[in-house]
Amino acid sequence: MSRPGDMRPLEAVPGERPPKPRPAPTPEPEAAPFWSAALEGRLVVQRCSSCGHAQLYPCVRCVRCHGEVEFVEASGKGTVYSFTVIRQNYTRPFRDWMPYVVALVDLAEGPRVMTNVVGCDPEEVSIGMAVRARFEPVSEHAAIALFEPDE
Ligand SMILES: [Zn+2]
Repeated sequence: MSRPGDMRPLEAVPGERPPKPRPAPTPEPEAAPFWSAALEGRLVVQRCSSCGHAQLYPCVRCVRCHGEVEFVEASGKGTVYSFTVIRQNYTRPFRDWMPYVVALVDLAEGPRVMTNVVGCDPEEVSIGMAVRARFEPVSEHAAIALFEPDE
């Protein structure tokens, strides 16, 4: 079993069904650079070459001005905008991680992303809390960006 706030891949328990891995994305072409960067432990965002707007999730064009976008390195730093603690979820593997935190995190570069805050007790999470990205590989094409306290 995992500890509260720890959503790492689950280990097999002898005599029980093998744990189900975290669901993995099927990267769309415009998002593939985001997922492959995450697999390398890097967080990237899209920046518009016309208006400078930074965005995630990845889109073909800037959602503000329809300008061209490119992927740029992000700091991986952010702050918790809002969050909730999940105490009921009957789907695997999430039921084995309860309680866990689903949060909206404002990246230092601007975009607001939905994620999990991990690496601490859910009761320690607060609005405005400083967090940093950490990555969990979920397939040969992608890793998921999770966030943990930035001390
Ligand atoms: Zn733009």
